[in-house]
Amino acid sequence: MSPLIDLLRAEPALWVATCVILALPIGSFLNVVVLRLPRMLEREWAEQCAELAGQPVAAAERFNLAVPRSRCPSCRTTIRALHNIPVLSWLWLRGRCAACAAPISGRYPAVELATACAAGLIGWHFGPTATAVLAFAFFATMLALALIDFDTQLLPDTLTLPLLWAGLLANLWGVFAPLEDAVIGAVAGYLTLWLVYWAFRLATGREGMGYGDFKLLAAIGAWLGWQMLPIVVLLSSVAGALIGIALIVSARLGREVPMPFGPYLVVAGIVAMFWGGTLLDAWLGR
Ligand SMILES: [Zn+2]
Repeated sequence: MSPLIDLLRAEPALWVATCVILALPIGSFLNVVVLRLPRMLEREWAEQCAELAGQPVAAAERFNLAVPRSRCPSCRTTIRALHNIPVLSWLWLRGRCAACAAPISGRYPAVELATACAAGLIGWHFGPTATAVLAFAFFATMLALALIDFDTQLLPDTLTLPLLWAGLLANLWGVFAPLEDAVIGAVAGYLTLWLVYWAFRLATGREGMGYGDFKLLAAIGAWLGWQMLPIVVLLSSVAGALIGIALIVSARLGREVPMPFGPYLVVAGIVAMFWGGTLLDAWLGR
């Protein structure tokens, strides 16, 4: 392993290119997670409800992250491996299904490209280290959460809780923050939004956000330490307010339509992972 790491250290461009190429299929997999995880959870909940109500549970076809293979949502044709190459296949097919020519969302290649770009940036920023691999795992889980929240207003426990544990584990070795700061960060992250939620609810009688948001900020605190929480809350609130006002003004969103807060937390958390230290120093005038 070590001669390879030495080579990558000597040739940063080679390392960044490796990150970009390895990240493309991972971006593809993230698309599958974003599409299927909410449906898997809905199925599970429906089964549990039927069980509680004493109704027979309908035997459904197997459905998880691996089975069945990806199909065109329009004509149900299974997508061939050659037509499933990240970004390239979509460009080659000009964004259409090979069998029925129904348009395929440009979001799939966009997510693959964003994952690849982020992996390149992480590789460049952290070098060929275990920290880079962990930072990418943090990024990938956060991206999946942002997209699922945007689509379904859900932040599944099956992603937020493992993300939280993983952050605490990574910081056993102080990878991103000392363990003490990480533990306090997890608790403080949860409590901060829990307090905001109840203050908002008592003041307005409405729910401003969900419990998933508390767990997401707890996970961010576990990864980055409590010192980053003010920056993350500030960045995400400002971004959320600006975009929310823009949407209400342009009348694309009624005031009563719930707006997911997760995507803003995710963007702020990723910014804080890269530049949180710099921002904090600037803020405190150090
Ligand atoms: Zn089709």
